[in-house]
Amino acid sequence: MRRAYLDYNATTPLAPEVFEAMKPHWLGDYGNASSVHWYGQRAKAAVEQAREQVARLIGAQPAQLVFTGGGTESDNAAIFGVLGAVKSAAKHLVTTAIEHHAVLFTARALEQRGVSVTYVRVGSSGVVDPTDVARALRPDTVLISVMHANNELGTIQPLEEIGRIAREHKVYFHTDAVQTVGKIAVDVDGLGVDLLSLSAHKLYGPKGVGALYIRPGTPFHPLLYGGHHERDRRAGTENVPGIVGLGKAAELAGEHLEGDALRVAALRNRFEESLLSSVPLASLNGDVQQRVPGTTNISFEGIEGEGFVIALDLRGVACSTGAACSSGSIEPSHVLAAIGKRKEQARSSIRFSFGRYSTEEDVDCALAVLPGVARRLRAMSPNWKGAVSHQRSAISYQPSAVSELYAKEETGK
Ligand code: PLP
Repeated sequence: MRRAYLDYNATTPLAPEVFEAMKPHWLGDYGNASSVHWYGQRAKAAVEQAREQVARLIGAQPAQLVFTGGGTESDNAAIFGVLGAVKSAAKHLVTTAIEHHAVLFTARALEQRGVSVTYVRVGSSGVVDPTDVARALRPDTVLISVMHANNELGTIQPLEEIGRIAREHKVYFHTDAVQTVGKIAVDVDGLGVDLLSLSAHKLYGPKGVGALYIRPGTPFHPLLYGGHHERDRRAGTENVPGIVGLGKAAELAGEHLEGDALRVAALRNRFEESLLSSVPLASLNGDVQQRVPGTTNISFEGIEGEGFVIALDLRGVACSTGAACSSGSIEPSHVLAAIGKRKEQARSSIRFSFGRYSTEEDVDCALAVLPGVARRLRAMSPNWKGAVSHQRSAISYQPSAVSELYAKEETGK
């Protein structure tokens, strides 16, 4: 069976060049980057080279980067780090309702420790309005945390404007850029951020390694205490092969950025257009323009998303209902709820995401399978009958409408 991997937002395949760059650090070059001897110095040099490579990709200075255990740790370290370091009686955090759980649950944990949090709402486009962020600010606001691109919808947030607002109000500004670094241009000064999280496995690097950018002068308490690693900002022996992999992935991302973005957007657009015209009552979620190149999120009325993902997997198509870590959860996506989708609509949504190694054949393979699977699931689903009766009232239903819908699907018209 031919398989098509359409889940690049969950994780990306390792670039072969990254694998090659990491290889020596599993075998001969196994030194501890803190050791003074030859082995240690080789490891240290490799870590520092990676720091330069990552810094270059995001317009930072190498010393401003802290290597972490991934995007989740970077988010936790940024938010706990700033809130923990600021000495004031009352502390307020502003974030949004569509953040990844790595930010949302960190905010909730802070609420339990007495920090007040405002979760700014977003409209149906899945894009935050900067004036809503400005309105949420209070005299005790310490930090704004707004993601760069949403992992489920791909929508890009107006960080430059939010950065200006943060500066005007002398509030620190963090962004979770896990879904943009390596996909679109990211520049810490251009965006006006004080802290930025990124993760290697979203840009063709290894899992379990990431980085946090910290602008000089930003108050920061480390999450982990121990040795003096990472200039006292993150204790723990550096994951040298992982960091080397992240560095190489960052270097490649810089070289591939524009070419990848254009090609991936073209694949995504062809897939999206064909799908929306070949499956009835399928609709796009989130803003069409303001989004990263490889992501599309589509609701299929009358189909239960988890069942759809499983049925597609059985036919060789890998996709997801949103965040990979929330798969299997009963609650529909908080992101789709935040953009105003009803529970059934949110439950019927699928995220397809493309990347550097996606091909026209992957798109064709998925398009060959999707309409038939959707048709069969709807035929079996009581929800689908509900969707048809909903159609009925909306378009003064004719008895032949259902068979017409299917006929349209069969002929592709
Ligand atoms: N933030 C966003 C927007 C993500 O998409 C993810 C991963 O899905 C994370 C954070 C967590 O990153 P990691 O898997 O490296 O912990």
